Amino acid sequence: MERNQIIISPEKIREQYVYMDKVRALLGERMQKVHYAYVETFGCQQNEADSERIMGMLENMGYTPTQDAALSDIIIVNTCAVREHAELRALSITGQFKHLKEKKKSLIIGVCGCMVSQEHRKEDIKNKYPYINFLFGTSMNWKLPEILYNSMIKQKRQYHLDCGDIGNIAEDLPIRRESGFKAWVSVMYGCNNFCTYCVVPYVRGRERSRDPERILDEIRELAKDGYREITLLGQNVNSYGKDLEIDYDFADLLEDICKIDGDFIVRFMTSHPKDASRKLIDTMARSPKIAKAFHLPLQSGSDRILKEMNRHYDRETYLSLVGYMRERMPDIAITTDIIVGFPGETEEDFEQTLDMLETVGYDNIYSFIYSKRRGTKASLMEDQIPEEIKKERFARMIEKQSAISSGKNSVYLGSVQKVLVEGRSKTDPDKLTGRNEKNRLVHFVGDDSLIGKFANVRITEAETFSLSGELEK
Ligand code: SAH
Ligand code: SF4
Repeated sequence: MERNQIIISPEKIREQYVYMDKVRALLGERMQKVHYAYVETFGCQQNEADSERIMGMLENMGYTPTQDAALSDIIIVNTCAVREHAELRALSITGQFKHLKEKKKSLIIGVCGCMVSQEHRKEDIKNKYPYINFLFGTSMNWKLPEILYNSMIKQKRQYHLDCGDIGNIAEDLPIRRESGFKAWVSVMYGCNNFCTYCVVPYVRGRERSRDPERILDEIRELAKDGYREITLLGQNVNSYGKDLEIDYDFADLLEDICKIDGDFIVRFMTSHPKDASRKLIDTMARSPKIAKAFHLPLQSGSDRILKEMNRHYDRETYLSLVGYMRERMPDIAITTDIIVGFPGETEEDFEQTLDMLETVGYDNIYSFIYSKRRGTKASLMEDQIPEEIKKERFARMIEKQSAISSGKNSVYLGSVQKVLVEGRSKTDPDKLTGRNEKNRLVHFVGDDSLIGKFANVRITEAETFSLSGELEK
């Protein structure tokens, strides 16, 4: 596929700006002064980033963002499909919005994201949720102004899901970032890997990279605006650049980002172990701006299961990668994703995963109970694991990791950590909370004026999943 067929043309983007003007004009004709917009987001950081664009467009159309769905004139539900649980929650929330629509007939409800990019879910919503005004797939976000305008004018339900396999890249859309100091920057979209359990390649299309200049411009702007943390997003960031017409990879991109002036740190996710290169690790090691934290999804510690998952690495290659990271950056924090209960996983396979937790010594893990996804290869595999066994293994995994994380945390006792302060702690509002370079949560007493800034905190207590300390003057 030619790149110019993937990139949405500037003319088409301009058209959307015209639709934004038209929606604003329609809202202006109404008696009501303020029109509220609410976006509910499920799933990963990519979805959060997409929702920021969606809110940016809504704001540009004359809507005022709100956190209160009951107030809204438009609601967009941005859904996730990675696990069934996320789908059920999205459907349940969407169901609850029906009452709001009964009270306010003019309320517009749209559903987008990965869940609706599946044919059977689209049909579900079409048939069972007649009060939904429109659906749009992950490659159609940029068309929201046109979809919304048509929905207002034609009073007819709209379905824009024909994203196909290829997907696209849309630049220059408005954005409303949730935070004034932490920003998501997508560097690429889609995935080509087809891990046998995963629905992502089916709902987000093929891998495609943004032009480096567009990414660098966005980050220059963020640095100028005083952003302190920039997280680069992609399903497999190490594939970045493979589809560009120039010889330029993810490590080159990081290198160029680090040349941008500003007091910010750079994070990135996610790296597939089969593609994470020594060049990338070397670049990290010599760049003070890049956080020394690496998320390297393992999924399983059993070579047999890794093969069934179509992951293209084994324990040995994974461990040698970890070994190289630690050689170059001895204090690097390593985190991972694990799936428990993949079809055919035996007690022995599972124990090999537990063994990897110990061998690698992860700082933290994100573990998931295997969820059967329609259309994936693993959903057709025999020997699906019973729910009780999955749950029992999951609990053992958490217990094991808690002890490891706890041990890792105690290493910080007495040290001074540079923390990006995020806000008040939810559990203890007397304290501020933030994260150090390794992404560890740190709580401490301090003034609101520190929010959004870096602070130095001396660590006095280490809990299982967080640290506490005192502000250094
Ligand atoms: N592209 C990223 C992450 C994609 S989804 C990567 O390759 O790492 C995020 C995580 O969800 C995955 O790492 C995996 O651990 C989990 N996941 C994906 N499909 C799943 C499924 N069917 N059941 C349970 N967990 C799943
Ligand atoms: Fe899913 Fe695998 Fe692609 Fe990650 S790399 S999004 S787990 S298919």
